[in-house]
Amino acid sequence: MTDRYAVIGQPISHSKSPLIHGLFAQATGQDIAYTAIEASLDGFAATVQAFRASGGRGMNVTLPFKLQAFDIATDPMESARLAGAVNALKFEGERILAQNFDGLGLVNDIQRNLGVALAGKRVLICGAGGATRGAILPMAQQGPACIAIANRTADKALELKRAFAAHADLQAGGYDELAGESFDIVLNATSTGLSQAELPLPAGVFAPGALAYELVYGKGLTPFLKQAQAAGVSHVADGVGMLVEQAAEAFEWWRGVRPDTRPVIDRLTVPLV
Ligand code: NDP
Repeated sequence: MTDRYAVIGQPISHSKSPLIHGLFAQATGQDIAYTAIEASLDGFAATVQAFRASGGRGMNVTLPFKLQAFDIATDPMESARLAGAVNALKFEGERILAQNFDGLGLVNDIQRNLGVALAGKRVLICGAGGATRGAILPMAQQGPACIAIANRTADKALELKRAFAAHADLQAGGYDELAGESFDIVLNATSTGLSQAELPLPAGVFAPGALAYELVYGKGLTPFLKQAQAAGVSHVADGVGMLVEQAAEAFEWWRGVRPDTRPVIDRLTVPLV
């Protein structure tokens, strides 16, 4: 019998998840159907419940429901507990298991696909929202020399420093506090990739040979990536690999089979020009 999965969000028509999981299923010979479901803003829990009741086996969760998904989980795994947010659910009888694979997807993309080890590196994450929250622990586990969080609202960066104090010794503050510092890996985890806004990054923030990574995907050269190139950075990437890698983690969690991500990343990549 075909097992059913879905991604839930609002809006959802833009989601690449049905395509990605469809390609994974084809390549691995798994008999699944994967659809996109739009829930109303106050209808998340009821929509999940209806999908479960009709035999659904698992879901990906995207904006704006990642926090609500945490609330309905009966068994949040460590990745979800630390992020306080969920992007994958698995239904087992009465239990709702929950994971957050965004951070692991990011780490896998940087290390495996882009060939940049995190160990010993100075890492700067711009932004202090949900994506940053999910990235901190998987990144810290790779042993970077430091992780700094810079955010427009400095208090939110400081809040993350406090929340993760038991797991990582984060530097945190506003962009002006980055003056005189440089980093080997600079991540844009703000939503500026969807707009034309530039980040107020001080000159010299990119160390020689740095990787500049934009979490937003499919937008070509964003203002952040252009900023990086103007500062002499030649290694730039967007978040398409992160998207596909987090999907691969969920697929393996649900199906017990690891799909090859490379062909799917290649298919979804929009050139950075
Ligand atoms: P949130 O809404 O939780 O956080 C947004 C962040 O952007 C905040 O830190 C906010 O700062 C900052 N920000 C917004 N506008 C500006 C601006 N003009 N100048 C400076 N900072 C700004 O978003 P998420 O953390 O969930 O996601 C961040 C981005 O990452 C999104 O664009 C999303 O598309 C992408 N993403 C990509 C994934 C992938 O698989 N590739 C997965 C998850 C996310 P402040 O606190 O001051 O408001």
